[in-house]
Amino acid sequence: MAARRRRGNGGLAGLAICLLVVVLGFLLHDSALGRLLYGTGGASVAPGETTVVFVDVGQGDSTILASNGTFILVDAGDEDAGNAVIQAARDLGVDRFDLVIASHPHNDHIGGMDDVLAVYEADRFMMPYVEHDSKAFERLLDAVDAQGLSIESPKPGDVVQVGDFILTFVHPPEGASYEEMNDYSLVVRVEAPGGTVLLTGDAEDDAEKAMRDGGYDLSADILKVGHHGSKSSTGKKFLNKIQPIYAVISCGVENAYKHPAEKTLETLEEAGVQYFVTSQVGRVTFHLQTGQPIEVTTEKAA
Ligand SMILES: [Zn+2]
Ligand SMILES: [Zn+2]
Repeated sequence: MAARRRRGNGGLAGLAICLLVVVLGFLLHDSALGRLLYGTGGASVAPGETTVVFVDVGQGDSTILASNGTFILVDAGDEDAGNAVIQAARDLGVDRFDLVIASHPHNDHIGGMDDVLAVYEADRFMMPYVEHDSKAFERLLDAVDAQGLSIESPKPGDVVQVGDFILTFVHPPEGASYEEMNDYSLVVRVEAPGGTVLLTGDAEDDAEKAMRDGGYDLSADILKVGHHGSKSSTGKKFLNKIQPIYAVISCGVENAYKHPAEKTLETLEEAGVQYFVTSQVGRVTFHLQTGQPIEVTTEKAA
């Protein structure tokens, strides 16, 4: 494994963006809970700030978490999304990933991951214990192998610390069997300085029930809505365990699945959750800082 290189982006540019965010934050003060800004969704990470970026990968998912030089990637969109993920990583000053997670082996989550792993080294790699017969899955296994990484499949209750991040895995249970590949999604609750995030992959009803029954702490400030906002995810009981302030739905413009479902949007609205849909606003970036309200920047206004 190569030694950690210096962060790429210049400090001055980061400082300027940070100041701009702060100034705009006062101008566009949106709610008591946090500040919503429109502008570039791609600001680099300011010192002491944790950044959670939901990359606009069209119909698919990709999330990058960054804090004090620690970088985690969860999913990388489909085979056309690699460049968007790499660009978002460059914007954040990623030099390598401390951890890469594939939530489950569907193409819209792993298709772009081999391209990302061709550019960035990873220290650790995790995915659930399911396999999939697809070209994308084969390419991913090759890319993981090329870096000499072993595949870790954490169990519910496993806690892993990566830099400032504390990850608690809450799904899938060992030996469980589901009809839907989506229900094997590796679901992780991430405690970061300044906030918590729940990343659900494509978990649907059955997975949500297992997590509720498991009695895990699912509470989170930010929810990555399961399965692109489909109606088979984000049940009221599940959402009630999370109690998020913000939610992100990652999906493509005019996608064939008609994601997100009206039912899901209603559930979020009824619960008072402020949600962002990547097909409408592009990249969504959350800025977290201990003791501060969470700030949100989106690439475009809705
Ligand atoms: Zn998906
Ligand atoms: Zn899926």
